Amino acid sequence: MTTTTDVIDPATGAVFTSVPSLDLAATDAAVERAAKAFPAWRAVAPGDRARLLRRFAALVDQHVDELAELEVRNAGHTIGNARWEAGNVRDVLDYYAGAPERLTGRQIPVPGGIDVTFHEPLGVVGIIVPWNFPMPIAGWGFAPALAAGNTVVLKPAELTPLTAIRLGELAVEAGIPRDVFQVLPGPGRVVGQRFVTHPAVRKICFTGSTGVGKSIMAGAADQVKRVTLELGGKSANIVFADADLERAAASAPASVFDNAGQDCCARSRLLVQESVYDKFLGLLEPAVKGFRVEDPALATAEMGPLISAGHRASVASYVEGSDVAFTGRAPEGDGWWFPPTVLLARSADDRHWREEVFGPVLSVLPFRDEEDAVRLANDTEYGLSGSLWTRDLGRALRVSRAVETGALSVNSHSSVRYWTPFGGMKQSGLGRELGPDALLSFTDVKNVFMAMGDQ
Ligand code: NAD
Repeated sequence: MTTTTDVIDPATGAVFTSVPSLDLAATDAAVERAAKAFPAWRAVAPGDRARLLRRFAALVDQHVDELAELEVRNAGHTIGNARWEAGNVRDVLDYYAGAPERLTGRQIPVPGGIDVTFHEPLGVVGIIVPWNFPMPIAGWGFAPALAAGNTVVLKPAELTPLTAIRLGELAVEAGIPRDVFQVLPGPGRVVGQRFVTHPAVRKICFTGSTGVGKSIMAGAADQVKRVTLELGGKSANIVFADADLERAAASAPASVFDNAGQDCCARSRLLVQESVYDKFLGLLEPAVKGFRVEDPALATAEMGPLISAGHRASVASYVEGSDVAFTGRAPEGDGWWFPPTVLLARSADDRHWREEVFGPVLSVLPFRDEEDAVRLANDTEYGLSGSLWTRDLGRALRVSRAVETGALSVNSHSSVRYWTPFGGMKQSGLGRELGPDALLSFTDVKNVFMAMGDQ
C-alpha cells in the first residue's frame, strides 16, 4: 500500500507538506513500466532524443527560482546555493543533450570483413539520491542515463523528495514519455533495495553513505549489476607555509561550512604547516566568526540549518569533549541550527579527524614538511576531494599526484564542474560522474564482426 511521508522545513522544524511513499508493489509496477518503455526510448532517433533533453533543460531553466525555493524550504539550502543547484541540473541536461548524436563506436581493422563497436544502453537504470544535494546528484545520474538511451527510475532521499518530484513533472512537460523517467519517493530499504534485487534494473547509480554503498555493491553482485558509487569523504585542505595565507584563510570556511558541512567534498581536515600554524589560525578565526549563518531564504545567507534533529545530535557528538579552538554564530530557537566550529585535533587518531562528521565542523592539525602532509592527507579510507595551497609549482604538481583523491584543486576549492569528471578513490566511490566519462558508464560495449562473404 502506498502511504505518505511528512516533509519538514529544517529551518523551523515544522511539517509543511507530505508526499507519497511507495511500497514494494508500486515499485515493482514502476520498474516494469520502465522496462516496457525501454525499447521505444532507445529507438528514438539521436537528434530527437537530444531535442527532448534540450527542451527539458529549457524548462528547468524557466523554473530555476521555483525549484530553488522548494530546496530552501525542504533542505535548508541557502537561496544562492539552491539557484546554483537548479542551474546545474539545466547545465548537465544541456551538456548530455549533446551526447546522443556523438555516441559513436569504433571501426577496428580485421581480416575478412568489418568490425565495429556499439555503445548499447543498459535498460532500466536505478538512481538513488541522498538528502544533501537533492537536485544536482539526481541530474548527474538521470541526464547521461537518458541521453545514452536508458529508462530511469529515481529514488530521492526520504527527507528531500520535493525537487526530484518537480523535475519528474518538468520532464513530462518537455515531452519525455512518462515511463521513461519516473521519480519514486519511498524508503531506502523498500524502493532503493528493490532496485538492487529487481532483475530488470540493470544498473544502480548510488550516492550516499559508504555503509549503504557497500551493501548495494554486495547485493548487485548477485546479478552482476553495474554500479556507480559516490560515497563519503574526509577531504584535506593542505596549507603550505609559502602559500598566500590570507586567501587560503579567507576561503577555508566556505570549503567546509558550505551547505552546513553536509557536503561529501567538504574540506573537513585542515593541515597547516607548523611554521605558520599560529599565524594561520589567527587569520582563520575572523573568517569563521564572520561566516553568516541565518535564514537560508535571505540573499546574504552563507549557511542554513542542518537537515534534521537526529543529524544535529550526531554532529554535536563530535564536538563534545573535543578541543574547541573557536566557533562562529548560529540562530537560536526552532530549527536544526549548529554554529561553524573549529576543533584542534590532538592527533590523527581523534574521532572528529577520522570520521565524516557531515556538519559544520573543521578539524585542524599541523604538519612538518611535504612528506608529512601527504602521509597525513592519505591516512584515511576516503579519497574524494581536497585542496592544497602553495606558490611552488613543482610542489603543487608533486602533491597533486601523491594525494589519493578523485578531485583536487590547487589554490582554490573547486570540485564540481559539469564538464569535468567527479568521483572518489578508495572507499569514496567507484566510477565517475559528469564530464566525458559518465556517459559510457550507462552503456555496454558491443562488438560486431560482419564477414565480407565470397564473391
Ligand atoms: P544514505 O546512505 O543514508 O542514503 C542515501 C540514499 O540511499 C537515500 O535515498 C536512502 O533512502 C537510500 N538507501 C538507504 N538504505 C538503502 C538500502 N538498504 N538500499 C538502497 N537504498 C538505500 O546517505 P545520506 O545520509 O542520505 O547521505 C549522506 C551521505 O552521502 C554522506 O556519507 C555523504 O558523504 C554521501 N554523499 C556522497 C557524495 C559523493 O558524490 N561522493 C555526494 C553526496 C553525499
